Amino acid sequence: MTGFAHARFLLSVASLAQFPLDRGAEVAFAGRSNAGKSSALNAILGRSALARTSKTPGRTRLLNYFELDTGRRIVDLPGYGYARVSERERLGWEPLLARLRERRSLRGLFLIVDARREVAALDLALMDWVDSAPVHVLLTKADKLNRSEAARSLKSAQGTLAEGAGSSRVGPTTTTVQLFSAVTREGVDEARLKLLEWLEPAAAGGGSASGGHKKTPGTSGEATGAD
Ligand code: GDP
Repeated sequence: MTGFAHARFLLSVASLAQFPLDRGAEVAFAGRSNAGKSSALNAILGRSALARTSKTPGRTRLLNYFELDTGRRIVDLPGYGYARVSERERLGWEPLLARLRERRSLRGLFLIVDARREVAALDLALMDWVDSAPVHVLLTKADKLNRSEAARSLKSAQGTLAEGAGSSRVGPTTTTVQLFSAVTREGVDEARLKLLEWLEPAAAGGGSASGGHKKTPGTSGEATGAD
């Protein structure tokens, strides 16, 4: 499968007025700082340094949009999890995140979690934020785990997400989970397929034959490492 040869940085959003037009389809990427979000984005998009843009000075605290091709976008959310974020910054994001969630274009959330860590409260809060949109969890850095550890990580994440989905806090979110490594490229094709599925124009109005989203968390295919 090819990458996204025409992917390019589109713009950084720091205020409500700066969002791109709410047309087409977009998918959000979020995760704790250092979870491997930039590496995952670069691997999935097949562009070695694209997401580095989000790490350039002045942009790390913004919503960074990338255009894959006309009408299909990725929105890279600021990494979270470090207490250093000031109250002022946090208050600045909230309206942006609230607006993003309301956008008709938003098709789903890729949640980036280090496979060696538990799915944390902040990750679940993001699922809560995204409300009814589907969530796909990438358990990154899977190359740092052996087979049984990886299987355990997958199972544990599925369990946590099932609990989250069963709580009243989280809406009818569809969650899928997979192992991922930007280093070995395990799971890259699977993640691309999910992204493409969500960005399909047909997904816009519902009733897509390729839909079939389930409410229960599950793996969208255990990576066997046969690559
Ligand atoms: P971000 O802060 O979430 O965007 O994380 P980065 O993509 O910048 O990655 C944080 C660190 O983890 C860097 O040192 C990466 O080289 C490393 N890293 C990211 N993905 C992987 C992976 O799949 N495997 C391994 N072994 N290291 C990774």
